[in-house]
Amino acid sequence: MQRIADLIGIEAERAGQAALARGGELAGAGAVQLVRFGPPQVIAEVDDGAACVEFRIVDEALRWHCSCPEGRNGVFCAHCVATAQSVRMRTDRKDSPPVPSATASVRTVRMAS
Ligand SMILES: [Zn+2]
Repeated sequence: MQRIADLIGIEAERAGQAALARGGELAGAGAVQLVRFGPPQVIAEVDDGAACVEFRIVDEALRWHCSCPEGRNGVFCAHCVATAQSVRMRTDRKDSPPVPSATASVRTVRMAS
């Protein structure tokens, strides 16, 4: 499971500034619903025009798809970024309590437990 999360994280770092900013807002607002979260595939619905994001590992490489116009053209769009952040929150969380969905500053990593 860690592997697809890592690949998603690497790809998210290459996303455009606008997508990163918007994706961070969406993730912070709790707009991301992880529908499926398994080793070969991550599917999420993002409450922003009912975007549906899918990440999948094909031939050792990460492929992604989003139902929005940008995503359909292969862009790592804001919805992909939002999903990537949710995946990271989920995988980083381990035993700590759930992050409140109202947290606005998703880019701030809280190290204190
Ligand atoms: Zn999208």
